[in-house]
Amino acid sequence: MRFDNLPRLASLDCAGNNRLAAYFSMEIAVSPAIPTYSGGLGVLAGDTLRAAADMGLPLAAVTLAHRLGYFRQHLDANGVQTGESQPWSPESILAPEEPIVTVTIEGRPVAIKAWRYDLEGVTGYTIPIYFLDTRLEQNDPRDQILTDHLYGGDSDYRLRQEAVLGMGGIRILDALDYHPKVYHMNEGHAALLTIALLEQQLHGAPLGSATEEDLDAVRELCVFTTHTPVPAGHDRFSAEQANRILGMERAPLLERVGAFHDGLLNMTYLALRFSRFVNGVAMQHGIVSREMFPEYSIEAITNGVHAVTWTSPSFQATFDRHLPRWRQDNLALRYAIDIPEAEIKEAHLESKRALIAAVKDRSGIELLPEIFTIGFARRAATYKRSDLLFTDPERLVRCAHEFGGLQILYSGKAHPADEPGKAMIRHVIELAKQLDSDVLKIIYLENYEWNLAALLTGGVDLWLNTPKRPYEASGTSGMKAALNGVPSLSILDGWWIEGWIEGVTGWAIADHDEDAGEATSLYEHLEQVILPLYYHQPDQWRRIMRSTIALNGSYFNTQRMLEQYVQNSYFPESLVQSPAATLEHSLAK
Ligand SMILES: *Cc1c(COP(=O)(O)O)cnc(C)c1O
Repeated sequence: MRFDNLPRLASLDCAGNNRLAAYFSMEIAVSPAIPTYSGGLGVLAGDTLRAAADMGLPLAAVTLAHRLGYFRQHLDANGVQTGESQPWSPESILAPEEPIVTVTIEGRPVAIKAWRYDLEGVTGYTIPIYFLDTRLEQNDPRDQILTDHLYGGDSDYRLRQEAVLGMGGIRILDALDYHPKVYHMNEGHAALLTIALLEQQLHGAPLGSATEEDLDAVRELCVFTTHTPVPAGHDRFSAEQANRILGMERAPLLERVGAFHDGLLNMTYLALRFSRFVNGVAMQHGIVSREMFPEYSIEAITNGVHAVTWTSPSFQATFDRHLPRWRQDNLALRYAIDIPEAEIKEAHLESKRALIAAVKDRSGIELLPEIFTIGFARRAATYKRSDLLFTDPERLVRCAHEFGGLQILYSGKAHPADEPGKAMIRHVIELAKQLDSDVLKIIYLENYEWNLAALLTGGVDLWLNTPKRPYEASGTSGMKAALNGVPSLSILDGWWIEGWIEGVTGWAIADHDEDAGEATSLYEHLEQVILPLYYHQPDQWRRIMRSTIALNGSYFNTQRMLEQYVQNSYFPESLVQSPAATLEHSLAK
């Protein structure tokens, strides 16, 4: 589907750069070579934009240059994490844009320029992504570094960055002559864009003079996706910071619109207050979000992943043979149900060999392609419980002996300030050393990033996810695995509540109040169902792989997701002329 051909959207076109939607995100993973993302949020943003480019959706995106990236993770033999910055040079990859805009931050004028990346879709249509940059001579040295570190620095630094992203982003789009009809805030980091839109609406009149109609005018333009199921996960700043960094004029306005909560400036409340449509990222997350913010109406649009990006080369070739339109039309993956089992087996084996080669390269350890391999890779946050699998290490060892072998691959970075997250990595690595034997191999691969994620989700036999409920808003790596025929064994949280069909797309770990109870369910599934199937009923195993692709690959992708955003969030019927009216209009011309 190409959205620029749809009459109902064409009716919204306007002069200048007729991009209808503007997408704001603190992190966007545009390519493995550009380290401007930390994990799931940035990968989702990139996958969303890749789908938008495929579909010809007239959209422009804004993020920060993050010249020093997030961090490259190093783990020593004891699992102690250290990090290095990942400098990259926008100058050598991106196109500079002319305009320079200014935002006053902490009383100083901060000049902002933009670098453009043209993201190309499957039909050649491109989406511009603007990387904002404050590394300009005219800026105070304190401000030149504002677009250096993704999620680095203290909370003053974060608030200044959010001012650059939200307010600088609106001014850059304006200077580039964009007049979007909808502004999408991907998480609350971009919420200050609402204040810049209000300032535009007031044409230079003081913020204090804003009427309820002015606030409503901004509200008509904004939509918001929240990603966090816990109050502590939302960005908050003190009133003193708001006054000092955003200014004595903006702080009272923020107070007036209800962006302060428990005495703190809360970016989620700011975004909620100014959005005509709000959504969580899976059905369950919608429910959790409505409980957290009962005064707002919150919908849900379940996340997806970009199908082509996360399908391994061998499965890409298989789909190209059997489902020639799958790249343009991801729903074609539903017909994967007809792909011969032998081809599923071959494609997976090739992906598994590529993973085994990469593991050998990185760790020196040679895994075996016939041995059952479990993957667990994601941000090392404590709620993700990467050590749940080791609750009863002896049971795991027995299991490996009984079936003739088990290989387990881990990866994931902890945020540098997250001490419990770093301790969890050490714990996994310590147990891996203790349990290592001929039949049980456990490897923690350092520096989880895009390429490693693709290798792991494509090459393992089972994708394991053990978050503590209800902290997994969605989770997306299991969706990547599904595209490669890799079933999940997961706690029923986030997307898995929707993706799980027992024994068809994977297996659910039973809910239990105690961690140990959930671990028991995990072991029981492995011992009684999963390992017997893999080792003794290979044909049945391949049928599960195939139904995982057909049922979950065809649905949990960003093409389906973005269509839902367009229909429900960006351009619901209530906002656009009916196709009939548009047709009459164009016939009359
Ligand atoms: C997909 C991806 C994630 C997100 O994984 P979750 O399952 O949502 O936790 C994080 N990091 C990288 C590098 C990814 O590719």
